[in-house]
Amino acid sequence: MNILVINCGSSSIKYQVIDPEASEPLAAETIERVGGQGKDHAAALAEVLAAVERFSIAAVGHRVVHGGARFHDACLISDAVVEAIEACTVLAPLHNPANLAGIRAARRALPQIPQVAVFDTALHARLPRRARTYALAQELAEELGLRRYGFHGTSHAYVADLAADYLGRPMNELRLVSLHLGNGASACAIEHGHSVETSMGMTPLEGLVMGTRCGDLDPGVVLALIRARGVDDTDRLLNRESGLAGLSGRGNDFRDIEAAAASGDDSARLAIAVFAHRVRKYIGAYAAVMGGLDAVILTGGIGQNSATLRRRVLQRLSFLGLTLDEDRNTDACVERSHPVADVSAEPSRVRTLVVRTDEERHIALATAAIVGGGTEVRQAGPIPIAISARHVHLDRAAMDTLFGSESQLRELKPLAQPGQFAAEQKVALVGPRGRIEGVRVLGPLRRATQVEIARTDEFTLGVDAPIRRSGELSGSAPITLVGPAGTLNLEEGLICARRHIHMTTADAEAYGVRDGDEVEIRLEGGARDLTFGDVLIRVKDSYKLEMHIDTDEANAAEMSRGASGDLSYSPPVGGATAQLQLKRNQVH
Ligand code: AMP
Repeated sequence: MNILVINCGSSSIKYQVIDPEASEPLAAETIERVGGQGKDHAAALAEVLAAVERFSIAAVGHRVVHGGARFHDACLISDAVVEAIEACTVLAPLHNPANLAGIRAARRALPQIPQVAVFDTALHARLPRRARTYALAQELAEELGLRRYGFHGTSHAYVADLAADYLGRPMNELRLVSLHLGNGASACAIEHGHSVETSMGMTPLEGLVMGTRCGDLDPGVVLALIRARGVDDTDRLLNRESGLAGLSGRGNDFRDIEAAAASGDDSARLAIAVFAHRVRKYIGAYAAVMGGLDAVILTGGIGQNSATLRRRVLQRLSFLGLTLDEDRNTDACVERSHPVADVSAEPSRVRTLVVRTDEERHIALATAAIVGGGTEVRQAGPIPIAISARHVHLDRAAMDTLFGSESQLRELKPLAQPGQFAAEQKVALVGPRGRIEGVRVLGPLRRATQVEIARTDEFTLGVDAPIRRSGELSGSAPITLVGPAGTLNLEEGLICARRHIHMTTADAEAYGVRDGDEVEIRLEGGARDLTFGDVLIRVKDSYKLEMHIDTDEANAAEMSRGASGDLSYSPPVGGATAQLQLKRNQVH
């Protein structure tokens, strides 16, 4: 299947023809001098189409810079989607109009060919509220759309997938820091396949030091600049004349700055030192955000090519489990045919990977997945929903401590999952701020003690529990349990459970999903219908079909016990026709 990938910018159009099965693009070119004084986008696109006429094009994938809060994934382009992208133009006034010009021209010229929009912001669209919120008066923030969106999503998603493949581990087990260090630069914390923090914010100006952009600043600096130079000059200064270029006074090409630094230029040395320091700071911060780290990925023109910069960034991070192998780092070379180089020293618990990014290929793969039917599968019947109140699973040692040596769980009533039961025993949970009495113990005993609470409980207890699948306790939160026979201080074990669905292999086949997939679920039958994203599929033949949500989630949908949910497709913007179908995010 040949995909035409179009990246339509304000002054140029880049295109490639990509067959996802082939390692090299079939065609790749950039048409310069588009818009402004040059030819218009329609004329430039006509050139593109003439150039690719010899290929049979199955679909067109368009890069779209800003999808706002609306687009969580790539999607098929309809009139309603075009309108919604237009509505995001205020957030990316330079980029979205150019992207839209390309989309309009391509739809006019190729009306029979499906076209897909792939958003730079999509990976970050589900940033946790705590990460996407600026500490501003919320009404004002809402009115003006002041929140963090994040960018470079196509690059971060692409290199993270390659890293997971290389590590031979499913994405939904991994905690990755992806560093895209090019002329634009951003860091992204990817926890179990989701962006949970990223350094660019409402605009691409926040975060790391970039070629010409300043990255993080005290907002007081911006105010001082506006007072001294006015708004337009400040805009230009911060976007075009700062960063590596501003610091070094030698332009924004990192190679030139490295050469100048090597020959003793103090400004160039300072530019590199500030750049590297900021990247290191983000690695540490993101390891803290995720409660641990499995790999650091370096990509982009600088991350892929500068061994000296990599060394500078990664030195003295062995306390995080990260150590660099000097020779591997110096020799690292990534190409299309071998896009990943492992530069970690052998005992390194956390891997350091240099990965070649390829945003066009990511767009082609996302487009192929959508037009190839990757997001829609067979429907099956509704799924029963169980609402899990806060509860505790105990191991043998915890049982001994809390209820006495050799004590046994007494079954109160069976749960839907075969062999599982609610026990008569209860414990109290104690956090730094408060205490919750009467928390049910579930049986049978497990290999590790695990406490599952809802978000609301965090505030009662004064704790911060990560969202995890059951059993994934490394880096989870501490909690104290109190039973009739004693008290147990757990260093980790407290989680907020990820919503999930248990099913058998036969169910999975009927719904067209696999273990570890994430789906969207439309809940009906409550007073407020609701679609949940990021619902994890867990497949085992001993399971009984059932979706588990916690009390907060059930309250949000005003659900009572015994309701059911349907696997559902996130409806294309403006259209409600695709409901009751499944959407599978590729998280493997
Ligand atoms: P990108 O925006 O990803 O194309 O990256 C552009 C940046 O990568 C520029 O600052 C280049 O100077 C830098 N770059 C490219 N090749 C090298 C290299 N071999 N060594 C150091 N920096 C490089």
